[in-house]
Amino acid sequence: MSTKRALVCGGGGFIGSHLVTRLKKEGYWVRSVDLKYPEFSETTADDFVIADLRDPVMCRHVIDLPFDEIYQLAADMGGAGYVFSGENDADIMHNSALINLNILEAMHRRNIKKVFYSSSACMYPEHNQMDPDNPKTSEDSAYPADPDSEYGWEKLFSERLYLAFQRNYGFNVKVARFHNIFGPDGTWTGGKEKAPAAFCRKVAEAEDGGEIEMWGDGKQTRSFLYIDECLEGVRRLMESDFSGPVNIGSEEMVSINQLAEMVMEIAGKKLTIKHIPGPLGVRGRNSDNRLIKEKLGWEPTWPLKKGLAITYRWIEEQVKMQKKNQNY
Ligand code: NAD
Repeated sequence: MSTKRALVCGGGGFIGSHLVTRLKKEGYWVRSVDLKYPEFSETTADDFVIADLRDPVMCRHVIDLPFDEIYQLAADMGGAGYVFSGENDADIMHNSALINLNILEAMHRRNIKKVFYSSSACMYPEHNQMDPDNPKTSEDSAYPADPDSEYGWEKLFSERLYLAFQRNYGFNVKVARFHNIFGPDGTWTGGKEKAPAAFCRKVAEAEDGGEIEMWGDGKQTRSFLYIDECLEGVRRLMESDFSGPVNIGSEEMVSINQLAEMVMEIAGKKLTIKHIPGPLGVRGRNSDNRLIKEKLGWEPTWPLKKGLAITYRWIEEQVKMQKKNQNY
């Protein structure tokens, strides 16, 4: 059997760089494309192209081989501070939509058919996520649409764009809605980090008995999925005959207060939580895994604490290295 060729768009990012490594382990030849190299480790890609996918000419250059599979993870995104403040709405919508439009056009010209698209749970309607104890995120609850962010609206548009190329041009499209993916080698500081990484950093930086800050009352709920499980879901979806959209997330819902407490337990530190105003997102969100179980016969099973412990140790190491560098 000949070696399969894959292109990972956004391969310099968190999920993309892990995906490149996973595909390499499976024996693929991988080209990765991004605006930047991975921040925390060397890329494992066979070929890494630095390119701006908002440029259609660059897209055509990058998609110049008969790739068996394209994984599209490039997007202008970040944590709540970036996505929910409203200040980056135009960039988020414009940049990510352009990337998706260009990639599909370049694929169409090269007659490449199989593509994975990473959507997000942020596309679910806000009104189904007001009750922190009972959020609704079954895949069929997406419409009538009412995401709480422009990031979510762009994801919804692009989901439909990929599925339209499937309907009209015979593409083989796979769409997953990721729910809060976390793990080592992810953004942990600087404003684009998500809640698990932010609390790991705050706890690692704090002295035992000290204080950490949290946006809001901490009663909003979420579920978080460890990176390895996310990739297992992506690969299983790619190998299946199901197109989605399908949730890839964990059903272990916790409040943000519980998340912070869990990190403190892992670190062996007792800290006081100071609640401050900040951008929050919806009140409750959890993955609904009925469809993935039905279609793929699989769902993620790792307890949150297991992945969080691995992530905490990695961020603790980053904090130590940063302190050491500052002392020089
Ligand atoms: P990330 O920000 O680490 O990765 C995205 C990558 O896209 C970055 O490396 C960025 O440089 C690259 N990129 C942005 N604009 C580009 C451009 N114009 N040209 C080329 N590359 C460009 O994010 P991630 O957490 O790895 O997320 C990957 C995908 O999964 C994104 O589409 C995101 O919306 C989606 N998603 C992630 C989560 C999560 O919890 N991490 C949840 C839901 C959906």
